[in-house]
Amino acid sequence: LTGGDEHYDATDKDIDKALRPLSFDDFAGQDKVVENLKIFVAAAKRRGDALDHVLLHGPPGLGKTTLSHIIANELGAGIKMTSGPVLDKPSDLAGLLTNLDPHDVLFIDEIHRLNPVVEEYLYSAMEDYRIDIMLDSGPNARSVQISLSPFTLIGATTRSGLLTSPLRARFGINSRLEYYDAKLLTSIVQRSSEILGTPIYEDAAYEIARRSRGTPRIANNLLRRTRDFAQIKGTGTITVDIAQFALNALDVDARGLDDMDKRILSTIIDKFKGGPVGISTIATACGEEGETIEEVYEPFLIQEGYIKRTSRGREATEAAYLHLGRTMPQHLRG
Ligand code: ATP
Repeated sequence: LTGGDEHYDATDKDIDKALRPLSFDDFAGQDKVVENLKIFVAAAKRRGDALDHVLLHGPPGLGKTTLSHIIANELGAGIKMTSGPVLDKPSDLAGLLTNLDPHDVLFIDEIHRLNPVVEEYLYSAMEDYRIDIMLDSGPNARSVQISLSPFTLIGATTRSGLLTSPLRARFGINSRLEYYDAKLLTSIVQRSSEILGTPIYEDAAYEIARRSRGTPRIANNLLRRTRDFAQIKGTGTITVDIAQFALNALDVDARGLDDMDKRILSTIIDKFKGGPVGISTIATACGEEGETIEEVYEPFLIQEGYIKRTSRGREATEAAYLHLGRTMPQHLRG
């Protein structure tokens, strides 16, 4: 049994902040990425340079934002946060860049969604720590060059394939985050319970972990909801029975698939005879954006072996049929 030493009462947003690891040592998993980053940060600090620009990519909720805060903390630098779609005009970017102190981190989430004009400005900022701003327009138009403090750009994206090659080439460090295994997620759930002051049994932490789609953000969310069930239906302690009850009530199945995952699989199997079928057709049939299916649902379903991506579209595997309690027709078996 872990947790339960102190009580923490706060809103979900505060809780989210409280659960966020602050140093490399608190950050569980992604060992290779973290080991490399530790070296690059230490080397930049020793030389007194800004850290090279970092691209973090991978499915949502695996810790890109968290790692960026950690990098800034470990550098002893400040961090400013923004996102691709928010940077509408070059002046938005210039405003942020000119306010950075030496070695600060600028975090741009969803960097694949940058406006191309803004992206152009970013090139010289990243390469030479300077930007050329156009003043006025028409015959009075002139460009002034502004020098910037040496800074580190951390770009985060769920779709690294959509990055233009000139932008991608300007990141010296390129790290891909992977889904977490159930053992790591168990330790994340235990650590979070400890911070929340909610006692939890190890088998209950494991139950939440293995049903969290390999994603710490989902594990923390399921933990919070399970804690509600434990407080209202139980004694406040999270037992495996309470965890199972809560997860079933939340429609999270034994393999961690939620309602939309199951809808995607049953669409491919029932409406399109197991596929192949294109993502936009699946999206329309499921009432979800194609982009969301590609970024959020599909990577996990592929990693767990429920769907296959082929040149002709997506196909359901035998595991998908089994999981939904169906039998795969003989002629589709490979
Ligand atoms: P997005 O790109 O969608 O914002 P993200 O990948 O940036 O997602 P974060 O917001 O960093 O994800 O992480 C989600 C939550 O998961 C955070 O509240 C954080 O506390 C927790 N978390 C992420 N990674 C870890 C980890 N390795 N150890 C412990 N907790 C983690």
